[in-house]
Amino acid sequence: MKSDIAFLVFAPLKKKRKNDSFDGNDNIGALVVKDILERKGIVVDFCAPETACSYHVVLVSLTSTYDVYSFFRQVARRPEWQRKHRKFKVVIGGFGLQNPYPIRNYADYALFGRADDIIEGLVSAALTGKPYIHDSVMNLPDITPVKIAQTQKLYAHPCKFSENKEFKESFVGCPNKCKFCHYTWARENKGHHGEYVNQTLAGASSPEMTWKEMIKSEGKLGRTRSAIDGFSQRIRFLFGKRISCDDVTAGIERLGAYEGNTVCIVYNVSNMPTETEDDRQELYSVIARSQPENRVIIVLHSTPFRPSLVTPMQWEGVTLMPNWNKYGASVIYDSDNLRAVHSTGNEAPYSHLISVIAERATTETDKLFQAICFNPKLQSGTAIRRMKILQRNFNLHQYLRQYDIGDPDYPASFLTGYINQTSLMRIAQKMRKDAEYSN
Ligand code: SF4
Repeated sequence: MKSDIAFLVFAPLKKKRKNDSFDGNDNIGALVVKDILERKGIVVDFCAPETACSYHVVLVSLTSTYDVYSFFRQVARRPEWQRKHRKFKVVIGGFGLQNPYPIRNYADYALFGRADDIIEGLVSAALTGKPYIHDSVMNLPDITPVKIAQTQKLYAHPCKFSENKEFKESFVGCPNKCKFCHYTWARENKGHHGEYVNQTLAGASSPEMTWKEMIKSEGKLGRTRSAIDGFSQRIRFLFGKRISCDDVTAGIERLGAYEGNTVCIVYNVSNMPTETEDDRQELYSVIARSQPENRVIIVLHSTPFRPSLVTPMQWEGVTLMPNWNKYGASVIYDSDNLRAVHSTGNEAPYSHLISVIAERATTETDKLFQAICFNPKLQSGTAIRRMKILQRNFNLHQYLRQYDIGDPDYPASFLTGYINQTSLMRIAQKMRKDAEYSN
């Protein structure tokens, strides 16, 4: 029996998917939503942008800010997706839905946060074409205040995803409150037992755990992933990671306490507010003075800071340079038992910039968004060249500048998480004051 409802499958930014299925797609959130609806007897198909018009309701799952661009690219030039011609209703949601301004004309409802208790009612409203009134839903194209819906209870049913893997939810959110991290401020922690250790999606062969947890853990790790999230102790302490220089050394030496090679991808946040070359040099010298007994290879993966929405750092400014992509594979330190290199996968300033544009978008952003998605000069070429084209042709101030804490002109003031605004502002004010005195 053909369904009235379908999930849209659209090509991600760089890779074109071969067919209209979710095969090979690890979009677990979308698969869970599909499962919720099907358990209520509502069958959900998949569709492509060009086949969406054979359904009444099309669901769109945005997993990251970049998906907002991918979605726009796929639908914005299709006549049947224009609001005045559109015969189907579009529901957008997912972790990547933070600021719907750029795509407000290509969807009818935006669901923020956890869908479990909302999606059935929302889909019923969409089938009748009526507005859906809920604290966590916007009836587009109007941009109205919304609260990110939280998990009331973990999803009880396992869900199959690519290559017969199975996902069973064991926690949501993170109990650590790193001040830059959207995840911890947007998703209230449920089902956690202490530290953040994620083996479910990474696979047991490459566990991901906090630096402190890694120091305490025992046994050979082989390949592992952890995070320090700041070049210096000053930066880490300011923005929520209580990892001292001694902790960095202890972690590296713990990795090297077992025979054979150990490779650790160390996630770092670069271009933090107030970061200087001295902060960077501190990490390089701390690495150099670590003395693991056996060989350790550190791959330092630096992602430039962005002022993520609903975090205490949402009002901070953005620094596009240095370009950490340029340092890919360059050696930080090399000795018999320790080699540290910069990751080849570090993000370049252009994709950093466009992600900030998507998060701080307003009605002023429409032309810029069109250009990023369709202007031929911006579809290829080096990151620096494309960044310069945008800087020359558009006023980027609203995306890059620092705002006063609680500024009513802040572009995404419509969005709140589960922490009330007054508390968030208090944390932000203290942090900014501490930052002023720390340098
Ligand atoms: S950065 Fe990692 S440890 Fe910190 S709050 Fe986010 S998920 Fe948790």
